[in-house]
Amino acid sequence: MKVYKFGGGVVKDAEGVKNIARILSGTDENLIVVVSAFGKTTNALEKVLETWYNKNGEFRALLGRIYDYHLDIARKLFTDGKEVIDSLNLAFSKLEDYLLTEKIRDYDYEYDQIVSYGEIWASIIVAGYLQKEGFDVEWVDIRNCLITDDNYRDAGILWGESSKETKRCFDFLKRKIYVTQGFIGGTITGQTTTLGREGSDYTAAVLANMLDAKEVVVWKDVPGILNADPLWLDDAVKLDAISYKEAVEMSFSGAKIIHPKTIKPLHNKNIPLYVKPFFNPGEPGTLVSSISRVTTDAVPVYIRKENQILISVLPVDFSFVMGDNLSIVFHSFMQHRVKVNLVQASAVSINVCVDYEKTKIEKLIKDLKRDYKVLYNDNVEILTVMRYNREATARILAGREILLEQKTRRVVRYVVRCLKNSI
Ligand code: ASP
Ligand code: MG
Repeated sequence: MKVYKFGGGVVKDAEGVKNIARILSGTDENLIVVVSAFGKTTNALEKVLETWYNKNGEFRALLGRIYDYHLDIARKLFTDGKEVIDSLNLAFSKLEDYLLTEKIRDYDYEYDQIVSYGEIWASIIVAGYLQKEGFDVEWVDIRNCLITDDNYRDAGILWGESSKETKRCFDFLKRKIYVTQGFIGGTITGQTTTLGREGSDYTAAVLANMLDAKEVVVWKDVPGILNADPLWLDDAVKLDAISYKEAVEMSFSGAKIIHPKTIKPLHNKNIPLYVKPFFNPGEPGTLVSSISRVTTDAVPVYIRKENQILISVLPVDFSFVMGDNLSIVFHSFMQHRVKVNLVQASAVSINVCVDYEKTKIEKLIKDLKRDYKVLYNDNVEILTVMRYNREATARILAGREILLEQKTRRVVRYVVRCLKNSI
């Protein structure tokens, strides 16, 4: 059994849905097809939520536009698809009813109840189309089998319950292909949850782990994993193979190709992950596995994480940083739910680089200032070069001021400020 994941980056119109069928016709494997919301639907649903939550009636028009978009795709796919259009309409009116009748509760809870619909609509259309094309397909509501805690918007999988339920839901003695949703899950009591933005890759990996898949393929609008963002470095090349470890390092450092949580469930069961081009499915793409082949090994990998703030925390009384101070300071970061991207500590200061999320950071700094001296540089970025050499680092440092540097044998990371003329 294999798991194929198709995201909104590639499936945004009727052509995209047809291309899923084309890809599936090229394999005889048992499959779980994980789909996420079409195109930019998740962003659009976030706007619906925001307006609704703020009691702004505009949410109706916003939802209307999302409905038209889906209906247009469905009409192009089904000339005579009344059943599919009926179930789509039903799912839309469920959300409409919810918005018109529910009393508004906690924001994160509401987020999951509303934003999760993107995946439901997309999967209804994809499953319906594949059925129409003659595939042996069943639609599965993942909220009944991927069981999570109730940490809304960032729900954690309950592995024991989910393992049992997924085996029941995805029975390959019954069907060859199952179409289901990424990104969403359900609590034991049946409330909808989401796993964090871009979480569908993670869903694919979790299902692969629980059901012992042979491999996972994530279909993308790029030839595979590239050694840099081509919008930044225009000579970016595809990597043929990287290790799980490199993939984790890349996504942690800011590469947007796969969700950071995706690798662990695959690594734990040694399941290979392929990132392949959606519109050139015959091409090999990039293999992520325990071995990294040497073909492109020499190519440096460049990753850029923008919109960072470098915070320096200094004890006021010149007491050493290591020991109590270190744990007090990090406890404060954790309490404010600020994720640490890079740390460097000396005898008298702790330097921490984090995403610049204004409100959170302001509160954190205010808190820290009660006991420490706090300095900071905003508007900085973290540049990471894996498999680095002198030429590679010189290239990306041109026009940048280095505020901090960290080097291991394979990876170098810089916190920099952009000056004029940098790339
Ligand atoms: N649709 C969700 C999002 O856009 C999940 C995903 O695409 O993986 O974040
Ligand atoms: Mg998406």
